[in-house]
Amino acid sequence: MKEIGLYIHIPFCMKKCDYCDFLSGVYDERMQEAYTRSLCQEILYGGQQLKSVAVSSIYIGGGTPSWLDAEYMEMIMNAVYQAFTVLPSAEISIECNPGTVTKEKFDTYRRIGINRISIGLQSANDDELKLLGRVHTYNRFLHTYDLARKCGFYNINVDVMTGLPGQTLEKLMYTLDAVTGLRPEHISAYALIVEEGTPFYDRYKFDAVKQHAGMETEFLPNEDLEYQLYKMTQHVLSERGYRQYEISNYAREGLECEHNKIYWKRKPYLGVGIGAASLLDDVRASNVRDIYEYLERCEKLRAGDEFSPLWDSATKLTRHEAMEEFMFLGLRMNCGVMREDFEKTFGCNIEGVYGDVLKKLRGEELLTIEGGRIYLTEKGMDLSNYALAEFLLEK
Ligand code: SF4
Repeated sequence: MKEIGLYIHIPFCMKKCDYCDFLSGVYDERMQEAYTRSLCQEILYGGQQLKSVAVSSIYIGGGTPSWLDAEYMEMIMNAVYQAFTVLPSAEISIECNPGTVTKEKFDTYRRIGINRISIGLQSANDDELKLLGRVHTYNRFLHTYDLARKCGFYNINVDVMTGLPGQTLEKLMYTLDAVTGLRPEHISAYALIVEEGTPFYDRYKFDAVKQHAGMETEFLPNEDLEYQLYKMTQHVLSERGYRQYEISNYAREGLECEHNKIYWKRKPYLGVGIGAASLLDDVRASNVRDIYEYLERCEKLRAGDEFSPLWDSATKLTRHEAMEEFMFLGLRMNCGVMREDFEKTFGCNIEGVYGDVLKKLRGEELLTIEGGRIYLTEKGMDLSNYALAEFLLEK
């Protein structure tokens, strides 16, 4: 049976954070109920359309999924079990923000099969949390983390952010010390990106331009410090038993996020909810982003419709695009890509397509080939934007 990953988007948040450009917002209870109903319709429709697939991992992201009432989350997971065969070994993750979960919610999550919790901490420094516009304090996070453990969750991720305005090596070290002291199974460390349309953009747009141009900055860390923050994270986490397995992701032995690996390995996945992306048979698609339009279109879903009336865009990748993606995404992982997987996927030898690029990057010590495995070196990871761009086939 073909296996797929399932992504479920919950767009609700308690308050919009100042740097956030994710598809999320503050909605009332009525909208939460209406959205849950539509989401269940979409899930059931997905199950009817994608017959004979097994779901090997589920990721409930957002937004703040834990902001949704537990009874709605239960309805959503019931729809999933009704629509799909979920493998007993499936990793089922949910994103939670500190202060939005109660014991009852965690108990419900366990009961409905959720076995991995991802908590958005971002920083252990309350002044940084305030600056980001987050609603929680570090103490609130600690309470949520303890509660998750007490409720029996043995697979927890903690998100931290680097490159914050005014962040120093000492401040980041404080956060890393605090987080690693708790021994979560997984840590994600993403660098802040100042996105257009956010309050952060209004505040820091000139600084962001200066940062990219390698100039001195006023608030954001300059390029040099940004690099030092990244290297310190890498070094401290690896020293404390967290192996880096992707540019921004670290895990204790055997506890990598299976769902994320589906994305990087270009395995098929279905995304449900507003703006959710899917990759099915080399078609990259994403759902409508407007929540009202989504509700309307879900009402009209009928089994047998051409897949899927909810897609806003759908593109069949060309062979070259699929090859580029295979390399871009695969090389983000420390283990890189397998020569044999490339051959199996595209029916041709990787050297025939990328022979010159592989030779060039090896010469620059950015890439290593070891047996059947091709991966970026530490230097290659540091210069990943440059190295990955080399795999574009139509420049
Ligand atoms: S909690 Fe997450 S999704 Fe919600 S506004 Fe903040 S950063 Fe965005």
